[in-house]
Amino acid sequence: MCNETNQLSRRAMLGSTAALGLTIPVTGMAHGMANQGSPPPMITNPDDALEALMNGNRRFIEGDMHDHDHEAAKKRGASGQSPFAAFIRCADSRVAPEIVFDQTIGELFVCGVAGNIPTSEIVASLEYAVAVLETPLVVIMGHSNCGAVEAAIEHQNDVMALPGQLPGLVTELLPAAINSKGAEDRLAKAVELNVEYGIGRIPKDSTVISEAVDAGKCRVVGGVYDLASGAFTLVG
Ligand SMILES: [Zn+2]
Repeated sequence: MCNETNQLSRRAMLGSTAALGLTIPVTGMAHGMANQGSPPPMITNPDDALEALMNGNRRFIEGDMHDHDHEAAKKRGASGQSPFAAFIRCADSRVAPEIVFDQTIGELFVCGVAGNIPTSEIVASLEYAVAVLETPLVVIMGHSNCGAVEAAIEHQNDVMALPGQLPGLVTELLPAAINSKGAEDRLAKAVELNVEYGIGRIPKDSTVISEAVDAGKCRVVGGVYDLASGAFTLVG
């Protein structure tokens, strides 16, 4: 039954893509990204998924992490994937979901971009996790002292003066930068606001995800990872 549902979801998603005339991507998804008949995640309830993550973060903080059998996880993963949580994380090298939530290969579906912004490409990736892999939880992972958010605060009046492709990225962070003005710890407030805006934005930008949320199959949450303590604190 679960596999049938999985196949139906996958078919619906491939069909939607075909309806847009995207024949090459459909071929790519069918051969490269399709679920290959993997079972749904071991954890299918969004609240249980969040609890599993927070328990993993507690083990990480306390230095009591599981002795994962990565070799066995690698072998399991060769035939498919069943992640129970999908992430948007900042690209910062100190933000490592698998480690700080004490998980192994195949359990987290992780998308990364500086400033953990829900760009269209990242939202599309999350849609794949939710619709095809039946991942019950989407997590936006901001972090303390985020350089991307700091750049938005510093350059809120001259974003276009930034080099390369940075203006486009930093512009996405401007609402949080501007609305944090006056806060005692402005950077911390902007990081928090940026996560909150992401939580609000994803269901608006994605009917695939909003429908899953409305059906109780998925939750979208977010939080801030503290670089010093290792603690992940939910916001919103
Ligand atoms: Zn960052």
